[in-house]
Amino acid sequence: MGLKTVVSWTVVLEGVVKWEGLENGRKVFDEMPERNEVAWTVMIVGYVENGMTREAFELLREMIFGCGFVLNDVSLCSILSACSRSGDLSLGRWVHGYAVKEIGWDVGVMVGTGLVDMYAKCGRIGAASVVFGNMPRRNVVAWNAMISGLAMHGKGKDVVDMFDSMIEEGVKPDALTFLALLSACSHSGMVDLGWKYFNELESIHGINPEMEHYACMVDLLGRAGRLEDAEALIESMPFAPNEVVMGSLLGSCYTHGKVKLGEKIMRELVQMDPLNTEYHVLLSNMYALSGKDDKANSLRKVLKKRGIKKVPGTSSMYVGGQLHQFIAGDKSHPQTAGIYRMLDDMIRRLRLGGYVPSTSSQVLFGCSTRDDCSEALEEVEQVLFTHSEKLALAFGLINTPSGSTIHIFKNLRICQDCHSAMKIASYIYNREIVVRDRYRFHSFKQGSCSCSDYW
Ligand SMILES: [Zn+2]
Ligand SMILES: [Zn+2]
Repeated sequence: MGLKTVVSWTVVLEGVVKWEGLENGRKVFDEMPERNEVAWTVMIVGYVENGMTREAFELLREMIFGCGFVLNDVSLCSILSACSRSGDLSLGRWVHGYAVKEIGWDVGVMVGTGLVDMYAKCGRIGAASVVFGNMPRRNVVAWNAMISGLAMHGKGKDVVDMFDSMIEEGVKPDALTFLALLSACSHSGMVDLGWKYFNELESIHGINPEMEHYACMVDLLGRAGRLEDAEALIESMPFAPNEVVMGSLLGSCYTHGKVKLGEKIMRELVQMDPLNTEYHVLLSNMYALSGKDDKANSLRKVLKKRGIKKVPGTSSMYVGGQLHQFIAGDKSHPQTAGIYRMLDDMIRRLRLGGYVPSTSSQVLFGCSTRDDCSEALEEVEQVLFTHSEKLALAFGLINTPSGSTIHIFKNLRICQDCHSAMKIASYIYNREIVVRDRYRFHSFKQGSCSCSDYW
């Protein structure tokens, strides 16, 4: 083993961290006779991605002060992007400070872009704008980071302004720029502008629209209720639509109660993606809402037989440099008793503030007929109340100073019920609550959300 070079050890380390987990990776790391910068970075990134901020800091300290390493641009960027993925602002800020001290005020395009992306994805869009504004040189990657960040935060108008400035500065937009632009139009309900950009893609900018661009447009048109236009666009596509495009259209059918079109799409989707039961759930709920109980019931039977496969929703937040994670109905946290006491109190106050649990979308999981429903309603409500977002919020209210902003990360889309609960909570507790879900940021303040309920 001693004959192995540092490089091949590092390759082994990377593989072990990726496939056998962090603990085994650490064993390899500790055994290495000699460690290069890449090896240190692999280990640190592993810790950051798993929410182990304290361990990451310990290793950084040892690397820099103990072994005299200096982090180069590549290491800085990999750590920053790990911070973006896990939402670790404290480490991201530290990297910012370190870079300024080591490199100087102008940290360069690469690290600057990493910082913009990190701040945007950690919910600090203001800080991202400041870093971006101070960058003396900006390439298309930097612009994309800024524009995507603004799009994620639902700042549709700022995205459009930014795009104009980008063109003015003579930077050529690419396919990613347009993806951010179109998704911003979609999240802000700017249908006509979205159409305009989509049409200019090829004709003015010479970019061939890809599947993702079509998916964005279908989403944009669908949300706005223009389902016929969305369908026509899909038919005009030069390649066959994938399940993301069709799934988005089905979602819009659900929102706008178009059962017939929904049925048709569902049939196509089942052929494309036979193992995914999410579509069945959507259609079944659509039937239930439009009073077609018999159809809803037969779909539920199919689902029951196959077993509903769902990715569990988790919500997490950093408090005191540590990641706290919750799943629905979680009782594993050491503060569980306190969290549930806070939750009870919170629900009571939310109800006084006008919160009505939205049990309709939960019909499928609670019961099979309408009579069962009224009996099961209480139970369904209980399930709603212990959604991971609400547990995280209760935890945050206990563990952060009053008046401070609460940052929550959710791995899936935030549900309708939690969305309305968060709005009222932000008012009752006088707190800004920022939730980053799988698609975007929601910033709840004084009873309303930055998305204006358009998501
Ligand atoms: Zn929820
Ligand atoms: Zn929102």
